[in-house]
Amino acid sequence: SAKMGTLTINLAMPHSTQSVKSHHVAVVGAGAAGLVAARELFREGHSVVVFERGNEIGGTWVYTPHVEPDPLGLDPKRPIVHSSLYSSLRTNLPREVMGYVDFPFVTRPGKSRDPRRYPGHREVLMYLKDFAREFGVEEMVRFETEVVKVRILENGKWNVQSKKTSCFINENEKKNNYNDDVDIISKSTVEFDEIYDAVVVCNGHYTQPCVAEIPGINSWPGKQMHSHNYRTPEPFRDQVVILIGSSSSAVDICRDLAAVAKEVHVASRSVADETYTKQPGYDNLWFHSMIDNACDDGGVVFRNGKVVLAGVIMHCTGYKYNFPFLDTKGIVTVDDNRLGPLYKHVFPPVLAPYLSFIGIPWKIVPFPLSELQSKLVAGVLSGRITLPSQKEMTEDVNSFYSTLEASGIPKRYTHCIGESQFEYNNWLAAQCGCQGVEKWRKPMYTAASANLRLRPETYRDEWEDHDLVLEAYEDFVKHTS
Ligand code: FAD
Repeated sequence: SAKMGTLTINLAMPHSTQSVKSHHVAVVGAGAAGLVAARELFREGHSVVVFERGNEIGGTWVYTPHVEPDPLGLDPKRPIVHSSLYSSLRTNLPREVMGYVDFPFVTRPGKSRDPRRYPGHREVLMYLKDFAREFGVEEMVRFETEVVKVRILENGKWNVQSKKTSCFINENEKKNNYNDDVDIISKSTVEFDEIYDAVVVCNGHYTQPCVAEIPGINSWPGKQMHSHNYRTPEPFRDQVVILIGSSSSAVDICRDLAAVAKEVHVASRSVADETYTKQPGYDNLWFHSMIDNACDDGGVVFRNGKVVLAGVIMHCTGYKYNFPFLDTKGIVTVDDNRLGPLYKHVFPPVLAPYLSFIGIPWKIVPFPLSELQSKLVAGVLSGRITLPSQKEMTEDVNSFYSTLEASGIPKRYTHCIGESQFEYNNWLAAQCGCQGVEKWRKPMYTAASANLRLRPETYRDEWEDHDLVLEAYEDFVKHTS
């Protein structure tokens, strides 16, 4: 289309298009990773089909009040609700840092937009929709289509089996409701069985709960749940709730709950055993060391010796990688939450470049990292960028794993990139022949992290890195004017 035509002008297109191969590529998922993967693949000249189980783009950022029937998410056959967002969620990163490199997350005009630097979740969804519209991505997406099997064939191609479920709803209900809570009167399912040259997996990794093990929990009479199924504090009014965890969800949810619950106790494994502190400014929020055991009288004993009689334990203990549709005949596995072997967290050496994963690293800024990974995948598939040999990639992976092991880092931290994400992004950019990370991005990320530690209650509304914000906006002009 004309729109696509104008877009290609901005692209880092190969000088000679003769040696460039165009492939038929399946992308699994239309979240932040899948959308940018589709854009990069399309820009590079591939034909792209994006499979999306949900009925709109945005993945995690599509908030729903619905939760799963199994509150701990242990039953593999349970109906899946993808998003883990809670109603009050605002981003934990400043928008300048969070956005894609060439489509900055700036405030856009419109009554319903949230101009705050750390906006509410709906603004992120609207940004992703703007992105998809700008680059014509939505036309590539097959909605309500779940990938149920991806398997390699003997000729090296990929068989992708998917299932489209259409729901027919009561039209009157539809008019009166926004999206959810509609009466489904019938469902129809159509199955697809297709062949692709390559598959790019972008199915997200914040849906399958990871649960803490607590001695004595089986005879403890209270309710347990995972933060995946937390939406609003109201159901916890006047209750005594114990939260396990210390990452962003736990930090937000304990404060959400403290506004209505009788008591909130947060157990963390990353603090000293004697830890027992009351949160300043609250009279019902305490921080403890980890839980030691749970008892059949409803008591929960902490390592600091305190005993709390609680009604609910909420596990804010993170998520597991999960690829129920992927059959690589054992070449790619998840072992103690290490997805491997993966060269640079993207390519399994034996299947590269025809199978790849976008957005696997964590403790990172996901949108720009996924953007650079996607450029790499698109460029390698077209033949513009060359990967090392299979043997070299395998050696690189093995030496990476040995380094982790030698430093005593458990397998489950393999994809926790954290501090080295900017170096990683610069490496990706160098491979792709595009510009490295902008000067302001890392210092702004560092300042935001320090601000969060300094002002855990107010970091989203008070900050000091005004000069970096100016620098970022000077840079954004390149992409927004
Ligand atoms: P997702 O957004 O999870 O998208 C995956 C998509 O794949 C979904 O649409 C899903 O329906 C689809 N899918 C899955 N399986 C299939 C299948 N078999 N067939 C078809 N489709 C399938 N990041 C930030 O940058 N800033 C923040 O402030 C921030 N806060 C967060 C708060 C919470 C509570 C959580 C859980 C995450 C947060 N993140 C944040 C990280 C967030 O996950 C990323 O920003 C981003 O959404 C990841 O995108 P993704 O495309 O990798 O995965």
